[in-house]
Amino acid sequence: MTPPPKGADAPGAEAPLLSVTDLRTYFHTNNGVARAVDGVSFTVAQGETVGLVGESGCGKSVTALSLMRLIQSPGRIEPGSSVRFEGTELLTLSEADMRRVRGNRMAMVFQEPMSALNPVFTVGDQIAEVARIHSRASRRDAWRQAVAMLELTGMPAPEQRAHEYPHQLSGGMRQRVLIAMALMMNPALIVADEPTTALDVTIQAQILELLADLQRRTGTSILMITHDLGVIAETARRVIVMYAGEVVEQSAVGPLFATPHHPYTEGLLAAMPRMGRRRDRLRVIPGTVPPPTDWPTGCRFRARCQYSWDRCANEHPPLYDLGDGRRSRCHLAVEPGRRAHPHEPLAAQAVPAR
Ligand code: SF4
Repeated sequence: MTPPPKGADAPGAEAPLLSVTDLRTYFHTNNGVARAVDGVSFTVAQGETVGLVGESGCGKSVTALSLMRLIQSPGRIEPGSSVRFEGTELLTLSEADMRRVRGNRMAMVFQEPMSALNPVFTVGDQIAEVARIHSRASRRDAWRQAVAMLELTGMPAPEQRAHEYPHQLSGGMRQRVLIAMALMMNPALIVADEPTTALDVTIQAQILELLADLQRRTGTSILMITHDLGVIAETARRVIVMYAGEVVEQSAVGPLFATPHHPYTEGLLAAMPRMGRRRDRLRVIPGTVPPPTDWPTGCRFRARCQYSWDRCANEHPPLYDLGDGRRSRCHLAVEPGRRAHPHEPLAAQAVPAR
């Protein structure tokens, strides 16, 4: 059971579309260095949907912004990090070249469409603008493409809706507008950061179905970032679980749901509502993610883990290779017998009983 080489991933995959190696994004603040993303490696193959899952504060969104090179000061992508996309190292591109990649080959769909759209322009104008910037289409052609793209996303009465302003549309329609903008230049990769979190359950299901359908038709790869394992189950083929700035588990979706290896993944699954499971039987993971300025030594999940023992305090676990494309950053990989002795986690002991 050895740690894999950094950056290796997806067995059998040839020349991944996206290859992230040892990505470190740190925020240099007055309160210390926040290591929000701390040595993350993964790949996304052509036409693949990969889920990136974890609680708030785990580093998922900072990972997404780092890929797009949208990190603002005091954040910084540290030397030694690498993001290769379509064979090009993005972290050394000039800003002008990076702008051409963004929105052209790689696009982002944000969580809250209202804040991602400009309230003073019609949605048609905003979608058409993408075509005008990236392909220098004429105004008329860009508008025609915008309406066609809205139609592709299943927007009802697309011609009429294109003339409306963001506030005139429902949340689900606004998310369709953002997806239309993302798809406008036929990107190779869409980074979708919690695309359905702000929507109610029915609309959420429609948007996930839309993304899956568009992916089948266009062959676009999707990096689906979410705190919700239900979204992963609906959309992704592989999943990467993040905790405290690190990848803690990687697996194909089916095996991860059947037999999670990392105790954090186990906790996320136990906290997930499912058919037939009573709400009062849902478990919560005790405690919270520690602050990124102060990651604990040893295993970062230690205080919240029901299996921790001395080794977890003393030795930072590597991402153990478990075979079949599965990896887990947990010493249980080499001492599986410890799983037979769960106990109350430190974080639960620290919480006063109510
Ligand atoms: Fe729990 Fe130890 Fe595994 Fe960390 S390394 S997840 S503390 S068992």
